[in-house]
Amino acid sequence: MMTNTNSVTPLHAPRKLKVATVSLAGCFGCHMSFLDIDERLLQLLELIEFDRSPLTDIKTVGRCDIGLIEGGLCNTENVHVLREFRANCKTLVAVGACAINGGLPAQRNSLDIGNILTSVYGSRVGMSSDSAIPNDPELPLILNQVHPIHEVVHVDYYLPGCPPSADAFWVFLNDLMAGRTPQLGHDLMHYD
Ligand code: SF4
Repeated sequence: MMTNTNSVTPLHAPRKLKVATVSLAGCFGCHMSFLDIDERLLQLLELIEFDRSPLTDIKTVGRCDIGLIEGGLCNTENVHVLREFRANCKTLVAVGACAINGGLPAQRNSLDIGNILTSVYGSRVGMSSDSAIPNDPELPLILNQVHPIHEVVHVDYYLPGCPPSADAFWVFLNDLMAGRTPQLGHDLMHYD
């Protein structure tokens, strides 16, 4: 008897890896650089599906294989989201200078946050007389200092750069998806 092999569904079709991404205290530049992998994104989508990410607009993170974190921690919501990613992602990656060491937002760490808020919202030239520091319960509380993410959760890998190049994302993710320890090599390793 002839069997129509075209209609056979593989019993163990490879599962797509689930990937979540987020920008905490970052500028989205790392996400933009990720998108610069251009048409390789289509190849990537054969192997992965995105969960929570600015690319999908999904707002809650589910169980994922890989979590990519852009940005450090400047407020309580950043800390909450980071902890959710750590709890749900098998492998957590600090992407870019802001996630790795605080980056540009951490420039404020030598200043008093109270003085910054007062000068920005209260005494700056051109402010109206009734301007005040925003104080709505819906707003997350600002942290005294900006922190890199490894100070709050365990980080499995670091992808350096400001931002990491598209090629660095590509090599890094391909290594991770193949179960290898990512090796960027000298050309793709940037700390600026
Ligand atoms: Fe933006 Fe650079 Fe920070 Fe990435 S590392 S979020 S590109 S400032």
